[in-house]
Amino acid sequence: MRSFNAIEPPTANGVWVQAGTRWREVLAATTAVGLTPPVFTDYVDTTVGGTLCVGGIGGASHRHGLQVDNVLTLEVVTGDGRKIFCSPTIQPLLFRSVLVGLGQFAHRRSPV
Ligand SMILES: Cc1cc2nc3c(=O)[nH]c(=O)nc-3n(C[C@H](O)[C@H](O)[C@H](O)COP(=O)(O)OP(=O)(O)OC[C@H]3O[C@@H](n4cnc5c(N)ncnc54)[C@H](O)[C@@H]3O)c2cc1C
Repeated sequence: MRSFNAIEPPTANGVWVQAGTRWREVLAATTAVGLTPPVFTDYVDTTVGGTLCVGGIGGASHRHGLQVDNVLTLEVVTGDGRKIFCSPTIQPLLFRSVLVGLGQFAHRRSPV
């Protein structure tokens, strides 16, 4: 999954990143335009996909919760090969299953 590491231009509403992106790369891309996701893991060489599978806790969690609490949308590849967008209001069961899903569900990219 590490080759899925593209980052789209960050906006004030969020940033789309592919799941193999390291948080260090998200940090560089967002702070370059004066923005930042609410929560980073303390160790930033983990990937977005890897930490969203377990929750993602960091120095700002006392204020903003876990990284999974700040995900807006996921693009999920299902076991039968379909690519589905999900969010708290679109396919919410799939959305909640993938986040902290311990890698039992795959996601390709996510805005954080
Ligand atoms: C040195 C170190 C420091 C850490 N510090 C923190 C910390 O500060 N805060 C914190 O919350 N956690 C921390 N962790 C734990 C970390 O969040 C987990 O180990 C996380 O799973 C690491 O992801 P990875 O991308 O590095 O590993 P990977 O080996 O790439 O992924 C781990 C697992 O996640 C799943 N996975 C990865 N990508 C996807 C995907 N796209 N779709 C579906 N499943 C996927 C797979 O099951 C995979 O086996 C730390 C870990 C280490 C080793």
